[in-house]
Amino acid sequence: MTYESPWMTDDLRHLREMTGTFLAKEAEPHHERWSEQHAVDREFWNKTGELGLLCISCPQEYGGGGGTFAHEAVVIEELARIVEDGFAYGVHSTIVAHYVNGYASHEQKQRWLPKLASGEYVGAIAMTEPGTGSDLQAIRTTARRDGDHYVINGAKTFISNGTHCDLLIIVARTGDAPGGKGLSLIVAETKDLAGFERGRVLSKIGQHSQDTRELAFTDMRVPVTNLIGTSEGLGFVQLMQQLPQERLAIAVGAVAAAERAVEVTIAYAKERTAFGKDLMSFQNTRFVLAECATETLALRTFVDHCIGEHVAGRLDAATASMAKYLATDKQCQIIDRCLQVFGGYGYMTEYPIARMYAGARVQKIYGGTNEIMKELISRSL
Ligand SMILES: Cc1cc2nc3c(=O)[nH]c(=O)nc-3n(C[C@H](O)[C@H](O)[C@H](O)COP(=O)(O)OP(=O)(O)OC[C@H]3O[C@@H](n4cnc5c(N)ncnc54)[C@H](O)[C@@H]3O)c2cc1C
Repeated sequence: MTYESPWMTDDLRHLREMTGTFLAKEAEPHHERWSEQHAVDREFWNKTGELGLLCISCPQEYGGGGGTFAHEAVVIEELARIVEDGFAYGVHSTIVAHYVNGYASHEQKQRWLPKLASGEYVGAIAMTEPGTGSDLQAIRTTARRDGDHYVINGAKTFISNGTHCDLLIIVARTGDAPGGKGLSLIVAETKDLAGFERGRVLSKIGQHSQDTRELAFTDMRVPVTNLIGTSEGLGFVQLMQQLPQERLAIAVGAVAAAERAVEVTIAYAKERTAFGKDLMSFQNTRFVLAECATETLALRTFVDHCIGEHVAGRLDAATASMAKYLATDKQCQIIDRCLQVFGGYGYMTEYPIARMYAGARVQKIYGGTNEIMKELISRSL
């Protein structure tokens, strides 16, 4: 059956085609090498920037594409289609750039956004610490004022783009106010920055081409003009305002991955034979795929609804949490069921379904765990 997202336009169709062609040439053939080196090639960021895919929904005035979240969604979907789940495009473009675009001053935007848009800078955000992840109000990294600088001390972990990041948004405690009230977002430009240390590249069960790392700050001095926002102590509110977009972006990737899983599994089931018949001729295979296709389409219509709402500026935090929780739970279930159809081949990493399986698991964890999503949803009931 054919279904097209109601938010699709000619402009977005063109973007999809261009992105798909670009990724087939510049990303897909390199995935294995990128996985071995635990990072995409640094130049790939520049190439993506040259094509105009980075910061695609930021204003053109600052080097962005002048698009909407729908443009971001198209790129995220195309990355899911080729199973390139290590290129943390969303962290850079959909999250980091939007903290800058949403809260930074005109001068700061002029300084940072064009570099993020061109790929000269790779963006990362450091919220999580070894001692706290879900409970952001317990963050311990400190940024103490010393003249015209903040002196930052602390440790962060699980930071996507940890190897390549040139611009890092740090969530740090700028005052003695307890909980969220003491938190601020501060930008560190990492090149030659004394006191900034990239720690271990973390060994993960999936998303091997992603440079997820520990980071440490020891008396690291950052100009006070790098504070994002009009005053200290706004960090927690800024995070709460931006996290719905991050969560929707994860849901978009999840539904695209589920769609791809169903697609490759149908193709495999029609081609593979057992007991003299193709797998599709077994009623179980047909029923599994019928169920997976139905659930995927239902999920797609919900996520499309959320994309439409978000583009219109109406998506609330609880609905974004619903999308993140449901889409990632379903992604894992659907990919698991599809993998079963592949038999032993589904367990072999050379088959995309195996990579999809391993890569999917973290979707229920990052961007706020699905348990936290249910907490947030329940508060709106
Ligand atoms: C591959 C990867 C990439 C990541 N990238 C980034 C990044 O770029 N930047 C960044 O800052 N972070 C990043 N993270 C961190 C991620 O956001 C955290 O792992 C996540 O928020 C959970 O925090 P935690 O791991 O400390 O788990 P914990 O907070 O310790 O949670 C452990 C368990 O307890 C449950 N739990 C905790 N609190 C509650 C509650 N109130 N109610 C019910 N259950 C609860 C959780 O749901 C979970 O099941 C990344 C993580 C991974 C694995």
